Amino acid sequence: MAVLVTGGAGYIGSHAVAALLEKGEEVVVVDNLQQGHRAALLGGVLYEGDLRDEELLDRVFRENKIDSVIHFAANSLVGESMKLPGKYYHNNVYGTLCLLEAMNRADVKRIVFSSTAATYGEPEQVPIRETDRTEPTNAYGETKLAMEKMIRWFEVAHEFRFVSLRYFNAAGAHESGRIGEDHSPETHLVPLVLQAALGKRPHISVFGEDYPTEDGSCVRDYIHVSDLADAHILAVERLRRGEGSAVYNLGNGFGFSVKQVIDIARRVTGREIPVVMEDRRAGDPAVLVASSEKARTELGWNPRRSDLENIIGSAWKWHLDRPEGYND
Ligand code: UDP
Repeated sequence: MAVLVTGGAGYIGSHAVAALLEKGEEVVVVDNLQQGHRAALLGGVLYEGDLRDEELLDRVFRENKIDSVIHFAANSLVGESMKLPGKYYHNNVYGTLCLLEAMNRADVKRIVFSSTAATYGEPEQVPIRETDRTEPTNAYGETKLAMEKMIRWFEVAHEFRFVSLRYFNAAGAHESGRIGEDHSPETHLVPLVLQAALGKRPHISVFGEDYPTEDGSCVRDYIHVSDLADAHILAVERLRRGEGSAVYNLGNGFGFSVKQVIDIARRVTGREIPVVMEDRRAGDPAVLVASSEKARTELGWNPRRSDLENIIGSAWKWHLDRPEGYND
């Protein structure tokens, strides 16, 4: 049986595809290649197209023996979502509705969902637990929460089973050096810091230094993308064992401020990284740090690559080898 990976040519999706292939799984990918890269796929069958294309989805389910879906395909930029919420509702929420309807028609009812720490908004406590209040502070997080809720109603009505994985900050690159982070335009902290280290950008901007944190910059929990990928395999296995639906945080449990990330990047790269202070970015909570106890105990997840120096080191290797990214 095959696993359908939507958004499999994207950053986290391509690392999950690599992990599935390493496990000997058959992989089918649907990706519209708006943000994904053909070269990021290390194998599997690619259907180039959009989730909102009903005919395409029906064909994918007809032509392949799919037993589980991992759903990554979405827009995922906090800043952009504040300017273009309609784009996020249309692609993320309506796209997920199309996928769920197609799964239901094809009688495929297991889904691993790519969710986010942004579903929590300003945390009521740190580290954040899965049972904590979800009150997103940005449109991106709001759409991801709506997608989670939609999947729950498909569980109630149509006996779907899901695992929702709420990622904290994904970073790093595959150990093979063949795949890594390449967004256009790039907005994420770690690749931007490394592009500044490479001299491809004049400086890195720090968005806000008046947050209620130790050094005033935002604190985030950085997790290696291949550790995230592992959790998806464990989630598929859990669903195949017939265990119930669940939500898991995926983070490292340690918070690093934007300024600390830049300092560690200076150490890892040995390069100058000029910094410019700027205003806060709309929609950013001050601190997001996960408790991933539940994923560790229930899923048996063991993030082993997520020391921040190691994460930045693997990303640095990717940036040095591929300064222009996939260039496709
Ligand atoms: N950030 C920053 N400068 C940048 C990009 C990001 O200071 O050029 C900050 C951002 O405000 C947030 C953190 O870095 O506090 C991580 O942002 P990123 O966009 O990487 O991930 P997000 O937390 O939005 O998923």
